[in-house]
Amino acid sequence: MEWIDLRSDTVTKPTAEMRKAMAEAEVGDDVYGEDPSINRLQEMAAERTGKEAGLFVSSGTMGNLAAVLSHCNRGEEVILGNLCHTYIYEAGGIAALGGVPPFVVMNQPDGTLLINDVKNAIRKEDVHFPHTRLVMLENTHNRCGGVPLSVEYTQTIADLAHQHGLQVHLDGARIFNAAASLGVTAEALTHPVDSVTFCLSKGLCAPVGSVLCGTRDFIQKARRIRKQLGGGMRQAGILAAAGIIALEKMTGRLTEDHERAKILASGLAQTGGLLLDAGSPFSNMIFANLADAVQLSAAQIAEQFKKKGVLVGVTGERRFRFVTHYWIDDQAVQKITQAWREIYSSLQ
Ligand SMILES: *Cc1c(COP(=O)(O)O)cnc(C)c1O
Repeated sequence: MEWIDLRSDTVTKPTAEMRKAMAEAEVGDDVYGEDPSINRLQEMAAERTGKEAGLFVSSGTMGNLAAVLSHCNRGEEVILGNLCHTYIYEAGGIAALGGVPPFVVMNQPDGTLLINDVKNAIRKEDVHFPHTRLVMLENTHNRCGGVPLSVEYTQTIADLAHQHGLQVHLDGARIFNAAASLGVTAEALTHPVDSVTFCLSKGLCAPVGSVLCGTRDFIQKARRIRKQLGGGMRQAGILAAAGIIALEKMTGRLTEDHERAKILASGLAQTGGLLLDAGSPFSNMIFANLADAVQLSAAQIAEQFKKKGVLVGVTGERRFRFVTHYWIDDQAVQKITQAWREIYSSLQ
C-alpha cells in the first residue's frame, strides 16, 4: 500500500532527480576538504543564509550540538526555550557531551521568548554563577505549531544578546518554511544571528543532512568539533548532491505545502470533531485536538486513519499533528479529508 504519511516532513523520500544526481555525484574525501559536491553545497548554504561559510553535518541535532560546543566552553550557559527542539529532543547532548547547561525560559505560544525573560536570564558577574555565552532561537518553532518568528523579533533578540556580549544561534531546521510563510528571504531571517542550522532532510526532501552556517572562524572551530563527534564523513558528496537539488529546486515550492495545509485544515474543520489550534496552520503543520464529544483517543483514531492508508502524528492523549510535504498532493489532501469524514460519521 502507498501510504499517505502526515506524521512529519522527515518522512519525505528523495525525488527521482535527487537519486540520479546522487548516483552521478562527483566525490572526494571531505575530511581532507576535497569533496567538490560537499564544497559546493556548503558555499550555496552560506550564500543562502548570508554567512561566510557552511559545514555539512549528518543531522540537525549534530548541527545544533556542534554550534553550541563551538560557541560555548564547558560550564558556560545557553539561554533557550522550554519547548525548543534542542532542549526536548536532542537527548541532552549539549549538557551531556559539551558540559553546557541550559538556562530555560518559557516559550510563548507564538514560539518567542519574552525579551524581559531573556534579559533576566543573562547572568551578572558573580563567582557563584556560570557565564552566559549564547541565546538560541528556533524558526519555525516546531512544538509551538510550526509558527515562524519574524525578522523584527529575531533582530530584537540579537541586539539584546550582542549588547551583552552574547552570541545567537538559530535552530532553523525549517527556516525555508519560515521564509515562505512570511514572504521574506531566509537570509533576512538569518542576518541578525551569528550561526544557523537548517535541515535538508525535511520539507526539502533530501535523504540525509543539515548545514551549519556562520563566520569562517566559527565554521573552522565547528569542523574540528564535528570530527570529535564522529561526524567527519568521507565521500559524502553522494549526500550533498541531493542537498544541492534541495536548495536549488525545493525551497521555492514550500508555499505549495503551506497552501495544501490550509486546504486540509479547512476540510478537517468543516467535518467537525477536530478543534484546530487558533491560527493553525502557520506553515506546513496542522495541530488539532479531538472534540470532547469524540469518545475515542487520538491513538485509536490514528488506527482508523491507518486502516484507510493515512498515517497521522499523535502528539498527546487527544492531540494530532498533520504535516504536509512534497509527497502530499491535491489528491492526497482529498483522500485524507474523505477518510476523516468517514471515520467521524462512523462515530455518530
Ligand atoms: C528536526 C529538527 C531538528 C533536527 O533533527 P534531526 O532529526 O537531528 O535532523 C532540529 N530542530 C528542529 C526544530 C527540528 O524540527
